Amino acid sequence: MTDRLTPILTDSWDVPRAWTLPVYRDRGGYRALAKARGMSTEDLVNAVKGSGLRGRGGAGFPTGLKWSFLPAPDGGPRYLVVNADESEPGTCKDVPLMMANPHVLVEGVAITSHAIGCDHAFIYLRGEVVHVYRRLLAAVREAKEAGLLGSLEITVHAGAGAYICGEETALLDSLEGRRGQPRLKPPFPAVAGLYARPTVVNNVESIASVPGIVLGGGEWFSGMGTAKSTGHGIFSLSGHVTRPGQYEAPLGITLRELLELAGGIREGHELKFWTPGGSSTPILTAEHLDVPLDFEGVAGAGSMLGTRALQIFDETVSVVRAVARWIDFYKHESCGKCTPCREGTFWLQQIMHRLVAGKGTAEDIETLSDAAGNILGRSFCALGDAAATPIQSGLQYFREEFEAGTHTPADELFPPRASLIV
Ligand code: NAD
Ligand code: SF4
Repeated sequence: MTDRLTPILTDSWDVPRAWTLPVYRDRGGYRALAKARGMSTEDLVNAVKGSGLRGRGGAGFPTGLKWSFLPAPDGGPRYLVVNADESEPGTCKDVPLMMANPHVLVEGVAITSHAIGCDHAFIYLRGEVVHVYRRLLAAVREAKEAGLLGSLEITVHAGAGAYICGEETALLDSLEGRRGQPRLKPPFPAVAGLYARPTVVNNVESIASVPGIVLGGGEWFSGMGTAKSTGHGIFSLSGHVTRPGQYEAPLGITLRELLELAGGIREGHELKFWTPGGSSTPILTAEHLDVPLDFEGVAGAGSMLGTRALQIFDETVSVVRAVARWIDFYKHESCGKCTPCREGTFWLQQIMHRLVAGKGTAEDIETLSDAAGNILGRSFCALGDAAATPIQSGLQYFREEFEAGTHTPADELFPPRASLIV
């Protein structure tokens, strides 16, 4: 079964001091950068296009295509911004990647900067992970002092911990020193991004995949995964599994296969529900164990691949309590810019708390469904849709638990457990 794993980004995670430049170079690091410098920018963009790499931050937009949207050089600056603001509930792939192997990201930044003709790149990191911030600063300094970056400047910027700053345009506002709130798109950042200049914004894992593509070639990468969802990806398993953690595998692997690798659901229990890509993606159930975890397969099951944050819940967990916890999060993180999300998450939270306490009213289920339906598709950015998602999918599969919340507290139906991870 372990032959289903593709340890490429994760291959050095157990190697002592893998985060240092000498160890990274001993293992072949920065060879891809040397090769890329001998390639034309057009060939580099075509290699990434040919690999089929799709954005690993969740949305799956083709990476090479995004690079090719930059307008022709006009003599002014253009930027690369790495979105390292990993905050989606359950998502824990970029932080361990940057901790264990920061140089693969720095090398990817240098190659991408060369490909798009940028002299100044930024890595926007969530502020809470101070240890990662220090590690990235050290890696950038090591690469700079070793002369690997040439004239490229890399700025590592720590945000202040707002989930909305993971939305690419809010991130750009935050980087410019403003309050982080989403901008209207279009224009997309490729046309008018940081300081209104052409900007490529890519996720950490996307950029870290670039050195492998340069060395191995687009065909090597697209030989993994499925026809439309190529390559390898890090799947983060958390919750009620025997061995939670990050499993790097080709896109298209199934939860059944990943659970085999992770030792299954904890002993004596069974799978009840799970998220394919964090709480922003509709929950699925045990019926969906064989859904291919690629963009098309998960969409076909009525959900989204998202960040591949597989949160696994067994039969001891109340769906109502889990959804209420997620709604607390979205309500807290709503930036307040648009009414459906700002007001809607407030009302969702009120009703969810009533249902958890077993004090819901007869109308609450319909009001909840109606409020979620009015947030979805009417919000300014994806956060509003994300807040509606667990409600709608929770009601789809576990409506009776929501209805029970009109007369029985969730704590009586599902006593809280110390081991619950939501
Ligand atoms: P999106 O589909 O609007 O955009 C995806 C990317 O493609 C963006 O970079 C956008 O600029 C680019 N793009 C799309 N259309 C374009 C066009 N016509 N021209 C040029 N560029 C174009 O998605 P989004 O709102 O940026 O992100 C939503 C996703 O974020 C969700 O799927 C979710 O899984 C993910 N997410 C991730 C985290 C995390 O912690 N990693 C947190 C929250 C959400
Ligand atoms: Fe802000 Fe929510 Fe509107 Fe997004 S959907 S702009 S987070 S209020």
